[in-house]
Amino acid sequence: MALMWNRTVDWDADDWRRLAACRNTEPDLFFPVGTTGQAVEQIEAAKRVCRSCEAQEPCLDFALATNQESGVWGGTSEEERRKLRKAWLAARRRAS
Ligand code: SF4
Repeated sequence: MALMWNRTVDWDADDWRRLAACRNTEPDLFFPVGTTGQAVEQIEAAKRVCRSCEAQEPCLDFALATNQESGVWGGTSEEERRKLRKAWLAARRRAS
């Protein structure tokens, strides 16, 4: 998946939310408690939903831009997103 660091997204339109594959799933699936044990299976199950989601890329962009620290967003775990966000912030600093 290619991230578009400098993309300008019309968040108000929220078009991507209408495509969200998680709209009809149990929300708790995307917010596991912890990162070990049963939470590992839950994270992987949420990521499987994300992989089938047409909104994966804008969802991840949104999560990075709005610093969503909890849960699975755009096919990434909290830890994965922390690393991605560092790169995202660095790219923004370079661009400004
Ligand atoms: S990428 Fe995952 S969390 Fe984001 S909208 Fe799609 S299913 Fe939901």
